[in-house]
Amino acid sequence: MKVCNHRGAKESGGSCVELGSNSKRLILDLGLPLDADKNDIKYLPEISGLDGKDPSLLGVLISHPHVDHFGLLAHISPDIQVGMGPAARRILKAAAPFMPGKWPAPENGWDYQSEVPFEIGPFTITPYLVDHSAYDAYALLIEADGKRLFYSGDFRAHGRKGKLFEQMIANPPPKINVMLLEGSSLGRIGDDQTFKTEQELEQDLEHAFAATPGLVMVHTSAQNIDRVVSIMRASKRTGRKLVIDLYTAVVLHATGNARIPQSDWRDVVLFVPKYQRKQIARNKWFELLEQHSSERIFERHVKRAPQKYTLLFRPLFQENLDDANCLAGAAFVYSQWSGYWARGDYDQVKAWLKHHQIKKQELHTSGHASPMDLKRFVKALNPGKVVPIHTFQPDHYGKMYSNVEMHEDGDWWIA
Ligand SMILES: [Zn+2]
Repeated sequence: MKVCNHRGAKESGGSCVELGSNSKRLILDLGLPLDADKNDIKYLPEISGLDGKDPSLLGVLISHPHVDHFGLLAHISPDIQVGMGPAARRILKAAAPFMPGKWPAPENGWDYQSEVPFEIGPFTITPYLVDHSAYDAYALLIEADGKRLFYSGDFRAHGRKGKLFEQMIANPPPKINVMLLEGSSLGRIGDDQTFKTEQELEQDLEHAFAATPGLVMVHTSAQNIDRVVSIMRASKRTGRKLVIDLYTAVVLHATGNARIPQSDWRDVVLFVPKYQRKQIARNKWFELLEQHSSERIFERHVKRAPQKYTLLFRPLFQENLDDANCLAGAAFVYSQWSGYWARGDYDQVKAWLKHHQIKKQELHTSGHASPMDLKRFVKALNPGKVVPIHTFQPDHYGKMYSNVEMHEDGDWWIA
């Protein structure tokens, strides 16, 4: 089996691997680079057949619905088959109309079922559901030409589905020749350190909520479903209702999982930001709005009793919160990757908080396995070689494993 990392050998994002066997090809992930300012076709790797005109390209397999893994699907032919988890496909479809610019919602292709192999031409693919901050995320085992390649995707051991990690290392897929292993956490924390678990984070959130006399705003991604669950649970235990916007309601519904917080739960309420009200009117999403309005609140409700709510904050809400004049005693919890904040994505939120004299608290845990968990994983799966991918620290792998093989972006090699 031939392999080419198009991007990701030296960056944590823009993942794209091409595999070749018997003159047929498959692509694993087609992600937007982390530093891309917008989803532009200029980032698309030069791969034959992305226009749908080269039948040797059999399809694209997406590991999980994060933009650094699927974003560039927006620029390929709709005739190309795209594999992914069925809930991930529903989430992309539900989210796309809310996003500015061009976002993909692939309709056709293979729906993964964990540990159920399927064939695409000369390739046999076995998806494995993994614990990650994206919902419905998979690692992929690809067999061809008598070789077994394991693509880790992005994963962790300390989330709400951490038992998937423990199950896999207790009963690993055998005889892996090559492992393409993500290393997002390398260099972020020490090799003998771990991240706090999602359950520990939930307790931190609970303490922060309990100590807040006014409105709690938690800035996170609505698609980080584990986090939404943590926020929901911490809110319930501190007598608060979870406030979501229509986009979040639609994403939660798309999981198809009744155990995930939903807009019709007793402790969940809908609050539609002004920008979204216009979006709803423009697109005539009245039925959608109706579907998620079993309890809808407005500015006056938040103003009357801000301490009764935890808002799943999005910058869109600032105008409504200003109008409601409801920020006395409020707290702002930043609960996503600190890099977005540091590089200036939310400078406008920063200025707004300063204006209201609200301090930012940071309560977060990573979506990626710690170096220690990565070591446990490699030890258990015992691959013939480990190839760095999705990392800013490829050179670090050599300090952790004895069988590292480095490949530059764009080089073809044999698995
Ligand atoms: Zn990623």
